[in-house]
Amino acid sequence: MAIQAVAGCLIDRYFPGVPLVAEENATELRRPEGAARLREIVRFTREFIPGASPEDICDRIDRGTSKAAEVFWTLDPIDGTKGYLRGGQYVTALALIRNGKVEFSALGCPELALPGHEKPGAGVILLAIRERGCWASPLCQDGPWERLRVSSCRDITRARILDSCDPGHKNAEKNAFIRNTLGIVAEPVAMDSQAKHATLASGGAEIFSRTPPRRDPAYCEKIWDVAPGAFVIEEAGGCVTDLSGDPIDYGTGNILKNNHGFVATNGVFHGQMLEAIREAVAALRE
Ligand code: AMP
Ligand code: MG
Repeated sequence: MAIQAVAGCLIDRYFPGVPLVAEENATELRRPEGAARLREIVRFTREFIPGASPEDICDRIDRGTSKAAEVFWTLDPIDGTKGYLRGGQYVTALALIRNGKVEFSALGCPELALPGHEKPGAGVILLAIRERGCWASPLCQDGPWERLRVSSCRDITRARILDSCDPGHKNAEKNAFIRNTLGIVAEPVAMDSQAKHATLASGGAEIFSRTPPRRDPAYCEKIWDVAPGAFVIEEAGGCVTDLSGDPIDYGTGNILKNNHGFVATNGVFHGQMLEAIREAVAALRE
């Protein structure tokens, strides 16, 4: 909540009038039962916005309930809340959308160490700008900035697959079928949040796909869970589509209702991956 309040404030300052579509809202905080929680949030927010009143902070948080427009920001203040709570991976994920496409994105990953980079826990920030690539720097200093590239691995049997930790966010049976079809030997590496996307963008893995879980086969992704991470992968030279191979349409508001599922690869494996998904869907009809 505090992260969204700070982001709402900065976006108001530097991009006045540009809508913010974000995960949280202050409805509960404005009720009498939310008072204790609001006091905590005020304490955190004031570290960055000294003197902000509780009402002002609720208004900044609710800046995130705007409707999507031709140009808008999207924010997941903490993607991977469960990872955050258990001391694992989580990210602050931000993207700027114009005409249904991402123009810029940022992933702040406090617990992530990129391959060959910092020691674990040092954290990293990734920035991607359309047609200017994907760049990473240690989180708490401005640079050195290093351009990231996806893995150049061409042998799919050696591909490293990333996976959600949460069994409720995936179809494990379909994922296993896909790995078997492709002859992938290694077990998937489980990780919360768009830290997976940062890992793929930096060449630390080759494949991440999200097949909707059996309990909710029609699940549609939320824009803040996809746009920032997908764009760092694309600007690092990777490929992102939905499970049918269609590009993701970011022009539909909070919910990506024109797409189903998510597939990201280093590009080399994308066609094979889509083919394996088609086979899995045909073989495991639910
Ligand atoms: P994960 O990749 O498991 O860390 O999930 C990333 C984000 O996607 C989180 O914000 C989840 O809440 C959301 N998410 C992904 N799949 C589902 C699902 N099937 N149901 C509800 N939320 C989901
Ligand atoms: Mg999220």
